[in-house]
Amino acid sequence: MNRKQRFYCRRRTVIKYVKLLAIAVALTVLAYLGMVAFPPLMFSNHITYQNYEVWSDRTIPPQINQVLDDATRRLHTSDLYEPNQKINIFFCNDSWRLWIHAFDDQSAANTDVWLTHNIYVRESDIATNRFYAPDSKPIPDLIHRPLSYVIAHEGTHVMEFLQFARPLKLKYPHWLIEGYADYVAKAGDFDFDKNRELLKIDSPLLDLQRSGLYRRFHLEVAYLIDKKGLTVKQIFANPPHEKDLLTLLKSDAIF
Ligand SMILES: [Zn+2]
Repeated sequence: MNRKQRFYCRRRTVIKYVKLLAIAVALTVLAYLGMVAFPPLMFSNHITYQNYEVWSDRTIPPQINQVLDDATRRLHTSDLYEPNQKINIFFCNDSWRLWIHAFDDQSAANTDVWLTHNIYVRESDIATNRFYAPDSKPIPDLIHRPLSYVIAHEGTHVMEFLQFARPLKLKYPHWLIEGYADYVAKAGDFDFDKNRELLKIDSPLLDLQRSGLYRRFHLEVAYLIDKKGLTVKQIFANPPHEKDLLTLLKSDAIF
């Protein structure tokens, strides 16, 4: 074999391996897209209850009905609530499932607000209406945030997804998307004056980065709805700047 023939032989070998690699990458991507597009394939347990479809990687206990009833009670407080709206929930007790579907295994739950509006919930004890924090850390504000709160919070994101212009996260401010979800999911269980006082003293509870809680965003939305009398549709149609809201909330002049 002369030099030229060796060159062409090596080139054919390289092209063959590049093709095999491309096929392997394409199959991996297809398998991943299949899992994301059809998540029920990965969850062996399923129930239907009212407008909810629930899947889980563990057996679903009968107390799910009470948890979903309480989530519905919370969602019902929203002007956006539609009783017939299907809500798909996937319990990911194995955190890798949460990672595959939501690219995040630290949050209590995640909703796909880009395409499917499926809800993915982290490891939970449905029977006691609670979710577990990653690495067994204590859950902040647990008393106000049972599992039914988490489902109602994510269910509110589904309503936002269906009601308002998309892509939701690019069109509207983060404080509004999360503040309204927290406002609905707490269903009125929120002390406006106390949280406003905490804001004034720069309490960590009102800082998402320090507490992991949406209480400052909730306070801002509660001000617009409960104090200014705006509807959620009016707020989403013309969201104010958060900086202006914070100035108002810290000021005594408006109250
Ligand atoms: Zn949220």
